[in-house]
Amino acid sequence: MEMDAYDDGVHWLVWCDHCICWHGHGRGPGDRGAHCHFEDSPYRANGYVLRYAGRFTKEIEQAHAAEVREAQRVYRRWVSKGGRGTWGHVWAEHLAAE
Ligand SMILES: [Zn+2]
Repeated sequence: MEMDAYDDGVHWLVWCDHCICWHGHGRGPGDRGAHCHFEDSPYRANGYVLRYAGRFTKEIEQAHAAEVREAQRVYRRWVSKGGRGTWGHVWAEHLAAE
C-alpha cells in the first residue's frame, strides 16, 4: 500500500483514512510500520510505503480538518454510549448511516 507523504521539515506526514488523523514518520521514502491507534486498522499488519507528495501546507491540513472534527464528534458520542466495538467498526457504521 503506497501512501502520499507530506514533508513538514521535521517529519513526513501521512493522512490515515482509518484513524482519521495524520501519522508522522521519519523523513524519506520507503516501508514504515503504521502508527495506527486502532488494532483493527488494515495498515497494522503490513504497514505502508511512503511516497513523497510535496510540502505539508496549511491548505493540505485544512483539506482534512472537517473530517477530523467529524471523527472527534463521532468518537465522543461513541464513548458516551459506553464505547463498545472497535473504532473501525464504529466509523464504518457511521459512514453507512449517512
Ligand atoms: Zn492510522
